Amino acid sequence: GSQIVDRKVDSVCPFCGVGCLITYNVKDEKIVSVEGRDGPANHSRLCVKGRFGFDYAHHPQRLTVPLIRKAGVPKAYGDTPRPGDWHETFREATWDEALALAAGKLRSLRDTHGKKSLAGFGSAKGSNEEAYLFQKLVRTGFGSNNVDHCTRLCHASSVAALLEGVGSGAVSNQVNDVEHAEVILIIGSNPTANHPVAATWMKNAAKRGAKIVLADPRITDLGKHAWRTLQFKADTDVAMLNALIHAVIDEGLVDEEFIRNRASNYEALRDNVKGYSPEAMAPICGIPAGTLREVARAFATAKGAMILWGMGISQHVHGTDNARCLIALVTVTGQIGKPGSGLHPLRGQNNVQGASDAGLIPMMFPNYQRVDNASAHAWFEDFWHTKLDEKPGYTVVEIMHKALAPDSDPHKIRGMYIMGENPAMSDPDLNHARHALASLEHLVVQDIFMTETAWLADVVLPASAWPEKTGTVSNTDRMVQLGKRALDPPGQAKADLWIIQEIAHRMGLQWNYEGVESGVAAVYDEMRLAMHAAIKGITWERLQRESSVTYPCLAEDDPGQPTVFIENFPTATGRVKLVPADIIPADERPDAEYPFVLITGRQLEHWHTGSMTRRATVLDALEPMATASMCQADLGKLGLEAGDVVTIASRRGEVAIHLRRDDGTPQGAVFVPFAYYEAAANLMTNAALDPFGKIPEFKYCAVCIQRG
Ligand code: SF4
Repeated sequence: GSQIVDRKVDSVCPFCGVGCLITYNVKDEKIVSVEGRDGPANHSRLCVKGRFGFDYAHHPQRLTVPLIRKAGVPKAYGDTPRPGDWHETFREATWDEALALAAGKLRSLRDTHGKKSLAGFGSAKGSNEEAYLFQKLVRTGFGSNNVDHCTRLCHASSVAALLEGVGSGAVSNQVNDVEHAEVILIIGSNPTANHPVAATWMKNAAKRGAKIVLADPRITDLGKHAWRTLQFKADTDVAMLNALIHAVIDEGLVDEEFIRNRASNYEALRDNVKGYSPEAMAPICGIPAGTLREVARAFATAKGAMILWGMGISQHVHGTDNARCLIALVTVTGQIGKPGSGLHPLRGQNNVQGASDAGLIPMMFPNYQRVDNASAHAWFEDFWHTKLDEKPGYTVVEIMHKALAPDSDPHKIRGMYIMGENPAMSDPDLNHARHALASLEHLVVQDIFMTETAWLADVVLPASAWPEKTGTVSNTDRMVQLGKRALDPPGQAKADLWIIQEIAHRMGLQWNYEGVESGVAAVYDEMRLAMHAAIKGITWERLQRESSVTYPCLAEDDPGQPTVFIENFPTATGRVKLVPADIIPADERPDAEYPFVLITGRQLEHWHTGSMTRRATVLDALEPMATASMCQADLGKLGLEAGDVVTIASRRGEVAIHLRRDDGTPQGAVFVPFAYYEAAANLMTNAALDPFGKIPEFKYCAVCIQRG
C-alpha cells in the first residue's frame, strides 16, 4: 500500500471462483504487488494466491512470438514435456504466417472432411467476451457445436442435476449468505485450499454460532471448525445422503407445505429412500446412524440451512445423482428460496460460471438455450445471420475419443483450436488424451506459456495474461465483475480477443467489432443481448462504475438478485422436480493388484495444471514439488515414511512422487494434487463418464504403491 507506484489498476483475482476484487500496483511496467479491494465477495480479503500469484505474468518463459512446429519433428506425447524448452521443436514465425497456417488448415479440413471434423476448447480462465466470441467462432465458422471447456471436468454433473431439478445451473444463494445460516453443510469440498476467502466467511459464521457439518472422505482444515465431521467412505455419498433424507421423513420433519406448493415427484423420492435408513446405511458409509439422524434433525429444524459442495461430489460416475440428493435434501426440509439456505455448487475457476453462461458448452447456446430447441435455434440463426447445427456437439472427453476414431468415422475430429486450456494435464487418463492431441492433423494452441498441450501443437499463438486485458468474469455468486488492463502483453503477444477475430476472418467470417481493446465493449453488448433477460441491466457503462453486479439483473436500476427461487423455480412447472437416486458404484474398485483408492485434487498454493502458479515466485517457494498424502496407519502398514519416494501406478499410468503424512486422508486412499507436470496425477485417473453430466471420475480409481 505505501509503495510509490506508477499506477493502480482495478481488476479481479484470476484464480478461483470466489472472485475477489483486487488492485494491481504497477511500477516500471511490472506488477509489484496486489491489494484486496472492497468487493462484495471479499470485502478486501485475499488469500495467498490472490496476493502473491501475479509475477507469472513477467516470467521469462512467457511466449512472445508466434511459433510453428518444425517440419519433421514428431509429436512425442509419451515424453514428459519440459517447460520453456521448445527451440528444437518450434520455429518463430510472423503473425501473418502463423495465422494463415492456423486458420487455413482448419478451413481446409472443414471443407474436405466436413464441419464435424473440427472442435474447439475455450477457457474458464478467459473473460466472458472471449468465451462468447470463441463459441460463436466454432458454431458459425467451424459449423458445429463441438465446443466445450473445463466445466465438463468440474460441475457438469451438478449443472445437469440443477437444470433438471430447479431449472437453473447457478447457485441459489451467495457464499456470504452463510452469515444467515444456522447449519452449513459442506460436502466434497476443501474450501480452505480451493475457495480460501469463502472459507473465512464460513469460519466467521461458525464463530457466530452456526453449525458447520463437514462431509468428506478426506478431512481437511475446515474440520477443525466443524460441529460434526462426517468422514464417509469414498464413493458412498448417495448412500449417506439418502440416509439423511430418510431420517428427515422418518422423524416427521418434512416441510409439508413446501412439498405441497413447490415440489413434484415427492412420492417417488419418499418410496425410493425407504430402503436407505441410517441404520442400514451406517455400515456402508461408515457414519453411525445416530450421527446421521442428529445431522438430519439439525438441518431440517434450522431456521436456515445451506449446502455448499465441490468436486468431491461432482467428479464421480454418479456425480449427477449426488447433486440430485442434495436438491432433494433442501426440498424436503424447505431449505431453499430464502436467505441463509439453498444450494451452492462452489465454482472452481474464476470464470467457469461466466464461460458456461456465455455458451462455451456443446449442448447450449448462450444462457443455456438448448441447441436442439427449435425456437432457440431459430433465434440464434437470426441473431448471427447464419445456418447453425441443431445437434449438440461432443464434450471434452468425447472429443478426445473422436480424435482417435478410425478414418472411416464421419465424425472423426481432425483439427482443433484450444484457447487457454491444458487438456494434456487436466484430462483424465493423460496417456490417452495426449495420444489423441498428438494424433490430430492440425492443432492450434493459444496460450501464455508452452503448456503441455501447446507442446503437441502445430501452431502456437502467444496470448495475453489476465492483467494485460480488459474484460468481465462471473464468479460463483453470479456476480459479473470487471477487470481492467494494467499492462501491455510482452513482445509480440496479443490480446485473445484480437486473435479469435483474426482466425474468424481467415475462416471466412465477416465480423466487425469496433472500439478499443479489440472491441471488447461491443462484444460484451452483443453477448448481453444474446443472454436475454439474465444480465439485461448490467451494461458495460454500469460495470465501469460499479465493478461488480449480481444477476439476474433485469434493468439498469435493478440491484440484482442475491437469492433466487423465492417465489418459484424456473422449471416448466414452476416446481422443483425431485429425482430419486440409487447407488451406482465407482467404475473401477480397488482389488488385490491395485489395492488403494486414488483421490486427486488441489492445494492452496497451486492452481489447476500449475502453468501460472508454479511460475509465481512466492507460491512456488511455498509448495515447490509434487507430494502424495497418506495417513500414518497406511504409511506404517507399508513400511514407509514421510519423505520417501514411491511409485504410484494405476492400470493407465504411473508417477514417482514424495510422500507426505496427512492423517485427514482416509485409510486405503492416497491423495495426489494434479498441478505437477513431473508427477501428473491424471496419468492415472479413469476417463469413465457420468452418463448425464459426462463428467469423468477423477475422484476414484484403483492404484498400487511401491517404494522407489
Ligand atoms: Fe483469488 Fe480465490 Fe484467493 Fe480470492 S479466494 S484471492 S479469488 S484465489
